[in-house]
Amino acid sequence: VNILAIESSCDETSAAVLTDGRIRSNFIANQTVHEQYGGVVPELASRAHQENIVPVVDMALKKAGVERSALSAIAFTQSPGLIGSLLVGNCFAKAMALALNIPLIAVHHMQAHVLANFIEDPKPLFPFLCLTVSGGHTQIVLCESPLSMKVIGETLDDAAGEAFDKSAKLLGLPYPGGPLIDKYAQEGNPARFKFPEPQIPGLNFSFSGLKTAILYFLQEHRQQDPAFVQQHLADICASVQERIVSILMRKLEKAARETGIRQVAIAGGVSANSGLRKALQQYGEKNGWQCYIPKFEYCTDNAAMIAITAWYKYQAGEFAGLDAVPSARAVF
Ligand code: ATP
Ligand code: MG
Ligand code: FE
Repeated sequence: VNILAIESSCDETSAAVLTDGRIRSNFIANQTVHEQYGGVVPELASRAHQENIVPVVDMALKKAGVERSALSAIAFTQSPGLIGSLLVGNCFAKAMALALNIPLIAVHHMQAHVLANFIEDPKPLFPFLCLTVSGGHTQIVLCESPLSMKVIGETLDDAAGEAFDKSAKLLGLPYPGGPLIDKYAQEGNPARFKFPEPQIPGLNFSFSGLKTAILYFLQEHRQQDPAFVQQHLADICASVQERIVSILMRKLEKAARETGIRQVAIAGGVSANSGLRKALQQYGEKNGWQCYIPKFEYCTDNAAMIAITAWYKYQAGEFAGLDAVPSARAVF
């Protein structure tokens, strides 16, 4: 079984080919037009997808050495995401499925982030918990089987990736600032500055208070010393990262305690963060968890995770009709 998968939910155009559960290629075109605007501009993202989609799919097929005629199904990201971006992948997938007379598979982007943990060994055992942390979401997901997942905790405001990116913006770093905070944090002292931890009941998260705290912290220090950020960038980044990571890990620990589950995974763009990856190992050792982190390239948006999800759906016979439409928002 050969599946071609397409991901176009935000600002990465990606295509992957999977053969019987194994990823043969995963090609990703990043869009750089958004940098100058300090965030993704939806209209520009749609246009870039439109330009990228044909060459990206060609590259993925070529790299995999799979002919179009050998494809068994086409998968695409249906939701959630930017509607114009999703439409490009959706229309392309439909046209190709129609032309080749093969079935279509609609994939939920957040479910795919979780299932990125199943692309390579070792794979989590069911049931497991997944902390999905990305640019638009922060969720604790209870996974009972590949296609049965329940969100048991989520953010009430900003996502963890947004917390990283907005903090970076306050520090004057370019978009997306998450990876840059990670980079500077490596040289810094995480205990140097203490940012507040929000008191949110249950398994939910909140990051908007942290953003405000950082804003006031910077205003105050800059008033006393205009070069404050420049001089202490590494320590500030390390301290901000430390707090974001501790907010995430304490809730994950609570979820593990309450459910009694010790199979624990992370997923999404922020799972590329070195502080979070290290913290997961530490909490894992302390609590006796078996921990799982997808390979770096499968953390941020990619079509390989869409392909692996589609593989489970293919085996379960879950196909979409040609009337399948994307949606900006979606629930499991
Ligand atoms: P969603 O999946 O919720 O629709 P998205 O697809 O835009 O959102 P991803 O591509 O999964 O999100 O992740 C992008 C986010 O990950 C950005 O906010 C980015 O700053 C963050 N990120 C990527 N690498 C790192 C890192 N090393 N440290 C911190 N944040 C990071
Ligand atoms: Mg992106
Ligand atoms: Fe994503």
